Amino acid sequence: GPAVLWFRRDLRLGDNPALLAARERGGDDGVLPLFVLDPRVWDAAGAPRRHFLVGCLEALRDATDGALVVRRGDPVDVVPRLAREVGAASVHVARDTGPYGRRRDAAVREELGEVPLVEDGTPYAVGPGRVLKDDGSPFQVFTPFSRAWQAHGVPEPALTPRSLTWARADGADDLPDAPDVAPEDAGELPVPGEAGARAAWKAFRDERLERYADERDRPDLDSTSRMSPYLHLGLVHPRTLVHDARARGGEGADAYVRELCFRDFYADVLWHRPDSAWDLYKDDLAGMEHDDGAQARRRVQAWEEGRTGFPVVDAAMRQLLSQGWMHNRMRMLVASFYVKDLHQPWQGGARFFLRHLVDGDLSSNNHGWQWVAGTGTDASPYFRVFNPVTQGKKFDPDGDYVRRWVPELREVAGGRVHEPWDLPGGLPDGYPARVVDHADERKVALARYEAVRG
Ligand code: FAD
Repeated sequence: GPAVLWFRRDLRLGDNPALLAARERGGDDGVLPLFVLDPRVWDAAGAPRRHFLVGCLEALRDATDGALVVRRGDPVDVVPRLAREVGAASVHVARDTGPYGRRRDAAVREELGEVPLVEDGTPYAVGPGRVLKDDGSPFQVFTPFSRAWQAHGVPEPALTPRSLTWARADGADDLPDAPDVAPEDAGELPVPGEAGARAAWKAFRDERLERYADERDRPDLDSTSRMSPYLHLGLVHPRTLVHDARARGGEGADAYVRELCFRDFYADVLWHRPDSAWDLYKDDLAGMEHDDGAQARRRVQAWEEGRTGFPVVDAAMRQLLSQGWMHNRMRMLVASFYVKDLHQPWQGGARFFLRHLVDGDLSSNNHGWQWVAGTGTDASPYFRVFNPVTQGKKFDPDGDYVRRWVPELREVAGGRVHEPWDLPGGLPDGYPARVVDHADERKVALARYEAVRG
């Protein structure tokens, strides 16, 4: 029988070790490509996320000459059923190292019985669990991890097969329709598919990589690669990017590889500490007092809608809702606002991000939030509270980013857009007043941090 290749977060044919293994095993019977639309994952996704996933599946279906089977349901039922239907010799995957994926794959393996579930590769440049301290224990801080990661080396990309025999299965496929996204946003969404990933990477590598080290903190310049959605669903493998960036060389390439290493680090942390997805990585700040009640809920809602009255926070949140993406600096800033100005537990903000981000990723996202909250690995000091006005002036000096996302402020010229309450004519029509006084909330946050630290 054919070898089933079960795609999860590796929706590509290039540099795909599981595909090579499936080709070998399937022989003349070929490879049957499968994607399972898991309602658990689908139902939790916002429109831009779904839109991108469906586009990537369509591209994969084309790349497999229409052979891709898409079935909806719990993979623990769907995969073994399909394997029996087609008399599969084996089922091939890239290893999923997250807590949910590990449980799911163990259950699928059990249900498959005699048919082996074969794992090759992971979605990371260096697989989680491979980089260890000399004494065999995992790293808990990024910088020493990154040194060991460099020393370990990133494997060469796998070959891309020239020819493949695709097996076919009977029955209609379950590829859902892509949800509508506003036309003005659709142009800004990443072009789905492996070819889209390659084109986006080449454009970045040729035009912006060189300046990346200097400009990566500026949300107004579009200076980052925006490869995160592609990396998340595996339209390109990170080791391809590492090797390609290193081939270019220079400070930009070094800075870029360092960020890819960060992605590996957080996946490694989650591998060793699956509980750190939703529980505090370090619990010295456990027991912090949080705000609840009607006023707190109204403030959270203002944050979710991009109507806090702080222009750069609102711009970032509106970009998230519209494009399903946000610049790294802005993620740090709006997360800080959620945790330290609105006094909310980080998990609620992390959940909101995961729903809306096209690149929403449990390890990068939740450890990013833990970092901001001061409970993560390289915890940012708890007394560091981002000021939304000075951050705006620093990273969006001319206000272009704010004007792009907050139409109510489009008429305000230059950097003054960061303090609309100081405009001679007062707050522009329709733009909300600030939901909190930042200076006051900063004091409250510090007092509460001090209280739990004893
Ligand atoms: P670039 O600057 O071009 O970086 C290249 C790649 O390196 C990224 O695509 C990403 O894969 C990786 N990378 C960069 N910065 C980080 C980082 N700090 N941590 C881990 N990997 C990094 N990233 C996600 O992929 N998914 C998330 O859900 C996510 N949530 C975040 C939540 C918060 C609160 C914070 C502070 C950061 C989060 N990040 C997340 C990390 C980072 O913000 C994004 O990876 C980055 O903004 C994506 O844009 P880019 O591809 O243009 O990045």
